[in-house]
Amino acid sequence: MNIPFNKPYLTGKEGHYIYQAVLSGKISGDGVFTKKCHAFFEKTFGFKKTLLTTSCTDALEMAALLINIEPGDEVILPSYTFVSTANAFVLRGARLVFVDSGRDNPNMDVSKVEACITPKTKAIVPVHYAGIAVDMDPLLELASKHNLFIIEDAAQAIDSYYKGRPLGSIGNMAAFSFHETKNIMAGEGGMLAINDDRFTHRAEIIREKGTNRSAFFRGEVDKYGWVDLGSSFLPSDIIAAFLYAQLENLKDIQERRRILWDRYYKALSPLASQGKLTLPYIPTFATNNAHMFYLVCRSLDERNGLIALLKEKGIYAVFHYISLHTSPYYKDKHDGRELPNADHFTDCLLRLPLFYELAEEQVDFITDTIHAYYAGK
Ligand SMILES: *Cc1c(COP(=O)(O)O)cnc(C)c1O
Repeated sequence: MNIPFNKPYLTGKEGHYIYQAVLSGKISGDGVFTKKCHAFFEKTFGFKKTLLTTSCTDALEMAALLINIEPGDEVILPSYTFVSTANAFVLRGARLVFVDSGRDNPNMDVSKVEACITPKTKAIVPVHYAGIAVDMDPLLELASKHNLFIIEDAAQAIDSYYKGRPLGSIGNMAAFSFHETKNIMAGEGGMLAINDDRFTHRAEIIREKGTNRSAFFRGEVDKYGWVDLGSSFLPSDIIAAFLYAQLENLKDIQERRRILWDRYYKALSPLASQGKLTLPYIPTFATNNAHMFYLVCRSLDERNGLIALLKEKGIYAVFHYISLHTSPYYKDKHDGRELPNADHFTDCLLRLPLFYELAEEQVDFITDTIHAYYAGK
């Protein structure tokens, strides 16, 4: 048996919609399918305004521009995250202040955030790891007390909730990813969700190379020109056409992923009860969008052994982030605080295959292999 880590799922209509987009004669950005996607997201999740981008990385870069990050500004974010969360702000000259993960969850430990705030702090960037919500209420309180922006990195968090509120609808802005490794995907793709009206107008301009082209096409201005900073952040309508086919199947995709996730969880629970490994912890304020199934080993060696055994059986399980405070690029710029929980997840977290077309028998084969590995340990 050969079980890849991920297999992008095609719902069936992607090619058809791409063909329609091509035939429409307008295949650059903001065509018919882009508008359909925007409407879907705004209606389904209540985001005030959405703008498709070519990636989540781009959406984060737009957010950094929109909140006017300048050299010397400080941005608070978890160390255990993807580089794009950090890069977007470093590109504007920000200094990063990394927060450790919690003990029982890779998300940032919100109780450690206030101690990181200085007069230079401009934003907090929580990352909803594995689509499991960060505890947002304490962050919102800190943001209003210290006048900070909150930018949610919701790359993994589509269709997940915090106390009933969709992730991505809580911060001033949020960035989503439609990379082929995410639940809903378009190969490469992303979206900026804007929940704070102050940013809506300028976001359109920044996304269109610093021009007021969007307003021009709506007939609001009679000519368009260069009015602000910007870049080319909008995807072609072909990408949106692909994405729209996925969105039409959101419910089905999520249901299937949850079934597989629950099957993993049930099968591995006995090992967790015996203290041999740790399973994902979902706080009562959070939902599970089944973006990822991971387990946490007791040590790096134990994880390496498990990866090797799984690989021998044709199963591709992969570890995840290397904490950014230890990265070659940033370690000398980090303020030196130890972040032991982030280090622990760097060494011990292992992600198992999870994708729509994964079969129940394959999940059973994977969990049986994991049981066999721990039998003598
Ligand atoms: C996938 C991911 C990104 C980057 O998404 P792209 O669309 O590939 O730019 C950023 N942050 C997190 C937490 C991610 O998982």
